[in-house]
Amino acid sequence: MKATLTIDLPAIVANWRDLAARGAPGAVAGVVKADGYGLGAAEVGRALRDAGCRHFFVALPAEGMALRAALGAGPMIGVLGGFAPGADGDAALTPVLNSLGDVTAHAAAARVAGVARRAILHVDTGMARLGLDAGELARVTQDHGLLAGLDLLYVMTHLACADEPGNLMNAAQATRFAAACAGLPAMRRSLANSSGLFLGPGFASDLARPGCALYGINPTPDHPNPMRGVLRLDAPVLQVRDIPAGTPVGYGATWSAPRPTRIATVAVGYADGYLRSLSGRAVADFRGRSVPLVARVSMDLTTFDVTDLPEIAAGDRLTLIGGDGCSADEVAARAGTIGYEVLTSLGARYAREYR
Ligand code: PLP
Repeated sequence: MKATLTIDLPAIVANWRDLAARGAPGAVAGVVKADGYGLGAAEVGRALRDAGCRHFFVALPAEGMALRAALGAGPMIGVLGGFAPGADGDAALTPVLNSLGDVTAHAAAARVAGVARRAILHVDTGMARLGLDAGELARVTQDHGLLAGLDLLYVMTHLACADEPGNLMNAAQATRFAAACAGLPAMRRSLANSSGLFLGPGFASDLARPGCALYGINPTPDHPNPMRGVLRLDAPVLQVRDIPAGTPVGYGATWSAPRPTRIATVAVGYADGYLRSLSGRAVADFRGRSVPLVARVSMDLTTFDVTDLPEIAAGDRLTLIGGDGCSADEVAARAGTIGYEVLTSLGARYAREYR
């Protein structure tokens, strides 16, 4: 009996349409890196393409090639981590140029080939990870000839603190981005991630790049989640057993039954991305009723106290993610992490059902 991940593609499409309306008149891409945040880049990509999405982003060339095979020719697939000229996928994918070295390498290769290289120019405005730094930007600003051979579709930057609307970083980055763009040849702009789409008109651009909100993660953590939930993880109960008060349960014997207790053991553990830090802290949902997780999460198994739900029997399914009180964000909060990590940690052992 396998645990099941149910992924609601129409809900993902509805979330994209909602975000597309917020990004209008600019276009809104689908960020499907890390296998569509763990939910399946090919399935998510096809659903978004069929809904009209024309721009996608992945992190790695291999992800881009797999997505190209799923989507066919047509949509732009930007590779956020970039790639060297002549690398696998060169012709099918659009590199993000993250340094002056990337710019000069792709521009030189394009001039030799005599074919303009379509690419996206990334300027760093405050993340200090990737993107042209201030010195590199100054060189390009002073010498646009460095860009000869490139067909730059967009200039982009990435916001560090967009999920905190009051953070001064947001306005500072928008200002630096506007200044950077002013020094570059005319090119369309790509600014907001999911949360950035909720920051207001100063963060509008020609192409937004939402990821997490497509998958139902709250892009406005200060407010109720405006997005639809898209994921449910249902795990089968393998056994139910009654234990006397005082009986320890699980590795480390860290939890002992405080009263005569009924334990349901379900077939999901940390190897499935049900994080070990949830030990003793999470709840599952059984038909609208909350079931507390007890003891440590182990590799393949997790135990729940079902004393108050005597109708639960082996073969029943508990909803571990996506039910009442256990949305991906709620599970993340209990685990001390973010919804992104909950989704991208989901393992390979589930039966996956796409609706
Ligand atoms: N743009 C870039 C450059 C990213 O790295 C990411 C994800 O980390 C995104 C857009 C999408 O961000 P989010 O999932 O917060 O919408």
